[in-house]
Amino acid sequence: MRRMPASSPSTSRPRLAGVLAPLLALPSMLAPAHTVSAADAPLPQLQAYEVREAWRQPIAPFQVAAHTWYIGTQGLSALLVKTGDGAVLFDGGMPQAADMLLAHMASLGVAPGDLKYILHSHAHGDHAGPIAALQRATGATVVSNAESAVLLARGGSDDIHFGDAILFPPVHVDRLVMDGEAIELGGMRFTVHFTPAHTPGSMSWTWNDQREGRDTAIAYVDSISAPGYRLLGNPRYPHIVDDYRRGFAAIRALPCDLLITPHPDASGWAPADAGARLPRPMTCRAYADAGERALDERLAQQRAAEAGD
Ligand SMILES: [Zn+2]
Repeated sequence: MRRMPASSPSTSRPRLAGVLAPLLALPSMLAPAHTVSAADAPLPQLQAYEVREAWRQPIAPFQVAAHTWYIGTQGLSALLVKTGDGAVLFDGGMPQAADMLLAHMASLGVAPGDLKYILHSHAHGDHAGPIAALQRATGATVVSNAESAVLLARGGSDDIHFGDAILFPPVHVDRLVMDGEAIELGGMRFTVHFTPAHTPGSMSWTWNDQREGRDTAIAYVDSISAPGYRLLGNPRYPHIVDDYRRGFAAIRALPCDLLITPHPDASGWAPADAGARLPRPMTCRAYADAGERALDERLAQQRAAEAGD
């Protein structure tokens, strides 16, 4: 549609003194620059991303290891690691969790300015949702990899599998990391491992902490599910299955005394139950094996469906 050029109101108008001039100018200022017809379609409705209640249910923070705290909801992980030089946050959950996370941080003695880094697993709205708000509130450095940074910047839009169905406030990444690189703070090292699977930019993180007096290698390992994903002949992701296999292999090789995952129940955690938060500890190898079995089942289903066409 071509726009009509706006007429210039000031050149042809007779000069009038005093307060009348701006009033007389009003009608032409209010004239629309272009016309909208009633036949134009309405602007699209915004669709909010609705999730199950457990993912939105706050619980009291609990300690996972000497420096590491779980501050997420019942069903979505957020981990806070306190060092001598400030704190690091892994993931945040849903967009609406920002204020809850800041309150949990305050209850653990971490002021907004004490949060130095925000690290994350994958760029979906149920894990990266509040990162933009937390970045504004704290000034923390947001860390990601190149693949995930693009999806963060788009606020989850044009997702390979979900299109524009799951959106979140876009995030500007401050620091890009390469596979195997470490973020250091207060004498602790947080090493990133690229584990492509649930997203091509999926990241897992490992660090050393102490638990019950023993050195403990913590592995925060990303999701490895493929919910509704097209695994065969996907034009947006031709090598998706190869990437999953690489991701599973990388996860099996991680230092992994204590496994935690963005969906805590996926690795045996029950954050809702203060008495049994880790009823079935799972190894990284078992987690990867279960993911690979599920992937192979989906592949078999999709092959069978293709053969039946
Ligand atoms: Zn996801």
